[in-house]
Amino acid sequence: MHSQQDFLRDAMHRLNLTRDRFADRLGIRRRALDTWLLPSDSSESRAMPDMVEKFVLEILRHAAQDGQGALAADSRAAQPLAERIAFEGKPQLLSVSQFDRDSLEALFQVADIMQPIARRQKVSRVLEGAVLGSLFFEASTRTRVSFGAAFCRLGGTVCDTTGFTFSSMAKGESIYDTSRVMSGYVDALVVRHPEQGSVTEFARATNIPVINAGDGPGEHPSQAILDLYTLQREFSRLGKLIDGTHVALVGDLKYGRTVHSLIRLLSLYQGLKFTLVAPSSLEMPSYLLELVARQGHVIEQTQSLETGLHGADVVYATRIQRERFNGESIEGYAPDFQVCKSLVDAVCKADTILMHPLPRDGRPGANDLSTDLNYDP
Ligand code: ASP
Repeated sequence: MHSQQDFLRDAMHRLNLTRDRFADRLGIRRRALDTWLLPSDSSESRAMPDMVEKFVLEILRHAAQDGQGALAADSRAAQPLAERIAFEGKPQLLSVSQFDRDSLEALFQVADIMQPIARRQKVSRVLEGAVLGSLFFEASTRTRVSFGAAFCRLGGTVCDTTGFTFSSMAKGESIYDTSRVMSGYVDALVVRHPEQGSVTEFARATNIPVINAGDGPGEHPSQAILDLYTLQREFSRLGKLIDGTHVALVGDLKYGRTVHSLIRLLSLYQGLKFTLVAPSSLEMPSYLLELVARQGHVIEQTQSLETGLHGADVVYATRIQRERFNGESIEGYAPDFQVCKSLVDAVCKADTILMHPLPRDGRPGANDLSTDLNYDP
């Protein structure tokens, strides 16, 4: 029988991949791969999870079957990332559906390279002289400030308007006109707006880059990409893969745009199990359930947190989006839907990852993710 080390070396050889590229292909850290490749009598050596072996076998099977497809993928991979994920041929980011697994990986590699700049260990002025237009017609703290801060850290400047009251939209200006005028002043736009599809309307009216920072209950691509990046880094630390993982999504799955984008992105991976825990009036829209099921993932819906969280690798809790309610009632929600320490201790595993896109509703009785988990590692 082949050793794990021979198996991995043979796979890299047949796929013609370096260790770095092989680790990327598997969605794991290079360090994890290195430990699986160490001689088995080394004290640092680790057994690779069964799921990795299955995934490698599947990659090999595809590579053998589909030489043509691999060639096409290679030529796509040679294209600049902005072209690979373009929206209607323009460098705009409106939905996570613009990504496939390879382009996501390519983006994560850019993010890795940018980390020292975000931490001010390195300086870049790559956006010197560029102006970002930041248009937030809905409440925001993190998304607005993080886009602005990132643009400034790269040497650019930001002009913004927040809310309808202080913009010409209060005077009845259309999305089309606002977008046309703004694109005369700025080099890129980040837009948040309460209507689903509205940011696409902004994007279609201009050729400059437009990023969707949240379109009502539609999507929140940057949040989901960040969540997946975080998850992937945490998983590679734990030696786990996103393929085959169990993710519990909790809270307002009807109006929560972060979960809409996240479930689509996670669906690019293989063999996931999703447990969706929401009050009956706030369940995940059926178009998303169908999309996820079509990719072959398992979906279970429940109103019991104990059932939904049991055995999950990831618990992603969300805020109730009351501002979007359209007559929904969430009677009974308050006592039943709080992810709190006693519940996590009772039903989750020691390495279950708890996530929340924030903001967390901290008002009394709001019953969002409990503050008693603040010191949970
Ligand atoms: N900040 C996220 C969003 O804009 C989540 C939330 O508001 O609950 O969608």
